[in-house]
Amino acid sequence: MIPFNKPYYSGNEKRYIVKAMETKILTGDMSMIRDCESFLEKKYRFPKVFLTNSCTMALEMSALIADIQPGDEVIMPSYTYVSTANAFALRGAKIVFVDSKNDHPNMDEGQIEKLITPNTKAIVAVHYAGVSCDFSILRSLAKKYNLLIIEDAAQGINSFYNELSIGTIGDIACFSFHETKNIHCGEGGFIVLNNPRLITKAETVRNKGTNRSAFVRGEVAKYEWVGLGFSSMPSAIAAAFLYAQLEQIEKVQKRRLNLWNTYYKKLKVLQEKGQIRLPSIPEYASNNAHIFYFVCNSANERNDLIRFLKTNAIQAVFHYQSLHASPFYKLKHDGRSLDNADRYSACLVRLPLFFELTKTEQDYICEKVIEFYSNLPILVD
Ligand SMILES: *Cc1c(COP(=O)(O)O)cnc(C)c1O
Repeated sequence: MIPFNKPYYSGNEKRYIVKAMETKILTGDMSMIRDCESFLEKKYRFPKVFLTNSCTMALEMSALIADIQPGDEVIMPSYTYVSTANAFALRGAKIVFVDSKNDHPNMDEGQIEKLITPNTKAIVAVHYAGVSCDFSILRSLAKKYNLLIIEDAAQGINSFYNELSIGTIGDIACFSFHETKNIHCGEGGFIVLNNPRLITKAETVRNKGTNRSAFVRGEVAKYEWVGLGFSSMPSAIAAAFLYAQLEQIEKVQKRRLNLWNTYYKKLKVLQEKGQIRLPSIPEYASNNAHIFYFVCNSANERNDLIRFLKTNAIQAVFHYQSLHASPFYKLKHDGRSLDNADRYSACLVRLPLFFELTKTEQDYICEKVIEFYSNLPILVD
């Protein structure tokens, strides 16, 4: 079976873990945790990075740092991972879902303004497949209505909006190092603070609601409970593993992009026949090759394709089920139909994409996808 994903290993993880163990500093700002944070700050020009034990945690922290209160409204796409919405629902926010674009699973920025009310506090921008949202629209809305922008950049490592790294434009951004992401440490992530006003608060939130960071810096005589917070930090063991991956990010990205471009080239023939729709990347966005997906013409076709590939020992998978139609939220949703999000839920399929995928395996996958479509009618507009 060719799996959908295999976690990447650089080969240096064990060595760095042993090194971390030998320092006997397994937590906190003096350890490998700080080394990873500095690496990210330098490479991507993030003003302030705190490593977290997941992107989900980073999102939950961001809702607390943004001071989201019960009844506040937060606008975000419906076509996203549960954690994006759950983080804000935990604080009592009303989630206002936006439809995806017709030609991309990212939220349709043009639909946002009419959803803004006096209760709206924040917009959460999810960069699906690591492809940036259109910040020119988001920034002007944030300015006009005094809203925070929080980026769910879980999939966005090493991806850019024009020349700026994803994660440097919103007030807060959240990234994931889950093993399904381009680089990882099993479970992990980080939060970026771009708004200097929020850094001190974030320090408290990451430290169980205490001013321990100020104490460690010698700024206060003892540390105390000063607000609400989380236990958000990974151990230095996870950070050591992560450092071994960060060092190899360019190599990982080169390989993934190569695989992504090969899929695109080989499957283009199916798009030309109107049988599938390949991903589109807007001019302002780069491609970090996090996901190779395409959109089928119907749910049945998509499900048949996944089944056909499975019988040929290939694991292809669908993706999100729209959150506005979820068991938890459908009765809370205001009833607007979000057709594009529903279409991506029903018709989007993702193909295996991981560092170790070989040329032979990829050729075989493309061959099988094309074989499936050769038995289906050709649709041309
Ligand atoms: C992976 C992912 C998350 C969750 O990340 P974890 O690190 O597993 O908590 C959140 N949002 C999006 C869009 C994701 O892809």
